[in-house]
Amino acid sequence: MLTRTASRVALRAPGRLSPAYAATRTHEAKFVTAPPLPQWEKLGFSATPTKAMIRYDWDGQQWNSGTSTSDFNISIHGLSNVLHYGQALFEGLKAFHCKDGKVRIFNSKANAARLKRGAERLAMPVVPTELFEEAIDRAVRDNVDYVPPYGYGGAMYLRPFLFGHGEKLGLGAAPHYTFCVIASPVGAYYKGGLEPIDALVIDEFDRAAPRGVGGIKCAGNYAPDVLPSIMAKERGFPVCLYLDAATQTYIEEFSTSNFIGVTQDGTVVTPTSPSILPSCTKGVVLATARQLGLKVEERPISMAEAGTFKEVAACGTAVVLTPIQSITRGDTVYKYHTFDTIAKLYDMITAVQAGEAEDSLGVTRTVCEKPHNPPSK
Ligand code: PLP
Repeated sequence: MLTRTASRVALRAPGRLSPAYAATRTHEAKFVTAPPLPQWEKLGFSATPTKAMIRYDWDGQQWNSGTSTSDFNISIHGLSNVLHYGQALFEGLKAFHCKDGKVRIFNSKANAARLKRGAERLAMPVVPTELFEEAIDRAVRDNVDYVPPYGYGGAMYLRPFLFGHGEKLGLGAAPHYTFCVIASPVGAYYKGGLEPIDALVIDEFDRAAPRGVGGIKCAGNYAPDVLPSIMAKERGFPVCLYLDAATQTYIEEFSTSNFIGVTQDGTVVTPTSPSILPSCTKGVVLATARQLGLKVEERPISMAEAGTFKEVAACGTAVVLTPIQSITRGDTVYKYHTFDTIAKLYDMITAVQAGEAEDSLGVTRTVCEKPHNPPSK
């Protein structure tokens, strides 16, 4: 028979929730009432609850017509491929409330194409571009109240993900596949001007094998970076820079963003390698640089070149361009002091995102309208 103390301990054993905590979680997950709107000026880059998650299921032949659910929990069998074999892909893109009151998605075709390449590589059913865009449009429309209003510099971050699940012991195709989109409002990354950060070259670990899956956005590429990122942050480096795994000679990319350099003569350069994840933002950055009349080079970049750059930046959806003020490798520190080109590209692209400048590259798509709010106090 359990003593009173023992039974109290048993109630708190792992895997069991106290009734009060379970109630909180149920409330969080089911959103009996819609979650409150966030305080726009306080948003950072973290998960903020919204009203609806979009979910599509594969019936073995085709995707179903999808549902919009307020339950963000997903129930899957414990022997699912996603949990054991990492059969999972994700994407990240943003929608913006623009100056003219329209809500526009930025660059979604590039994300759809990248997810498609990943699905082919991981033997998962492809999500056609039309379905991908339908899903993200639904996620925006169903959560439109949570899109940060124009003027706050925020955005609706969209996280599509595709995974294999269902009872399965041996390695092979999963019995079921699901494609979802979750939306979460995020704040302006830079509240003032651009803030340069320090990068650390990771020599002890590799991000992606030469003929592995670095070029697709699969879940398995990210868990191995958790430890190096924690270690780098403890040493005061917010970002890790990875070199090519075969020779440790060429620059590949940062943990979650691509490498952009500007040479002394103003050429914008970015490395090529099959194990780099092609950044969707980078496509827009390079096209914008060409519009500015800048020379653009996509080629292997030796680490020995690091000290020759005038400007360096990390490029990705979260921030568009983050200036890198130093790269440290062992005892060597390369420093960068000016960011004129990076700042110009950043300003041009963020102006298009906010609908303040013409989208001459045709990378935005209108989803819906949202009235302008009076600024909150
Ligand atoms: N490289 C990696 C490894 C990433 O995870 C990301 C983020 O998605 C990027 C680059 C930047 O890609 P994007 O511009 O599509 O966000």
